[in-house]
Amino acid sequence: MSKKIMQKIAESDRKLSLSDYIFRVFLTLVLCAALASIIGNIATNFPMIANVKWVFVILLCLLGLWLVYKALYVELFKTLALLSALCFVILPSWFYGGGDNTITILYLMMMSIEAFLVLEKSFCRWLFTVLSAVSCVALLSIGYYFPHFIQKTGGQNVFMDTLIQIAIVFTVIIISIAIYTKRYRQQHEQLIGANEKLEKLASIDILSGIYNRRKFLEILDALFVKQGFESLYLVMLDIDHFKKINDTCGHHTGDRAIRHVAEHCRNIVGNRGNVGRYGGDEFVISLKNLDDKSVEKLAQQLCEVPVLGEMPIQISGGIAKWQGEEDAEILMGKADDLLLLAKNRGKGRICFWNDKT
Ligand code: GH3
Ligand code: MG
Repeated sequence: MSKKIMQKIAESDRKLSLSDYIFRVFLTLVLCAALASIIGNIATNFPMIANVKWVFVILLCLLGLWLVYKALYVELFKTLALLSALCFVILPSWFYGGGDNTITILYLMMMSIEAFLVLEKSFCRWLFTVLSAVSCVALLSIGYYFPHFIQKTGGQNVFMDTLIQIAIVFTVIIISIAIYTKRYRQQHEQLIGANEKLEKLASIDILSGIYNRRKFLEILDALFVKQGFESLYLVMLDIDHFKKINDTCGHHTGDRAIRHVAEHCRNIVGNRGNVGRYGGDEFVISLKNLDDKSVEKLAQQLCEVPVLGEMPIQISGGIAKWQGEEDAEILMGKADDLLLLAKNRGKGRICFWNDKT
């Protein structure tokens, strides 16, 4: 039975927002603190009237835990619970707490900190801070100007009670902040992981595993913005007679051919540039800081696509060279024209920047 309840709590736990989660921690801590206070009061023979507020607190905590579990009116309840704890528990305890009960000030600090951790609305958080600060000043003023309003009991009982209250307040504050920080960091790390996954999904072509068109152009644009190259060549490749592969061997084989050419390009280019799928059976490659000779050699290697199973694969291409003035778009246009030239000249070849289009 208890295992089932723990499982259900763990399930609801995952759905809770950070502030609701901390509110639940806060309620649990206060519940334990209230029980400890009642036990402490009984042990130290403290006036029984002091326990009335703790019973009220316990009922409030139980109601709050149930509402958080059911996800009902949580935000409203948080505000009302903090307000009623302030008005009906913390402030009255100044007058009946046995003299100069400076613990009340600690409790007011605690409420203000908790308000920041558990309330979603910034206005409510600040309201609690202002209310707590005003209450501190008002209570100290009443104690100074109208001391007869405050019930003075003093003695060892009050001292012991004060020690217990200090322990309670510090424990609640430190545990709340520690759990808040830990969970916040966890969520932050999860978010970074999710963002990285999304970035990867948005950048990689799902079929071939190389950059998609968007990412390739983004990298190319960034290269131009930084002017981070001395020489730049742009290669545009297209598989020849690809429709025939699709039509005779099926789209599945067509897909394999696309993956095959992508892998071939990646192997040849290595870390000398970036490879992307421009769309369909078209690929783009950027090569930076190479010389004409090594690009020509690389082009030769690109044309030598290994057979796929027993099927020969042929490609055509165009290579444009950056002459110092073109932007990314113009260079892409030039490479595309050269690819068209290669197709018109009979396919299975690569045309270069100095070929006449
Ligand atoms: P050319 O020799 O002149 O390049 O002609 P081609 O037969 O290769 O035809 P073209 O490049 O104009 O057409 C590409 C075809 O690729 C058209 C489309 O049906 C097919 N295609 C586009 N994307 C995919 C894909 O992801 N998988 C498969 N299997 N086929 C695709
Ligand atoms: Mg083609």
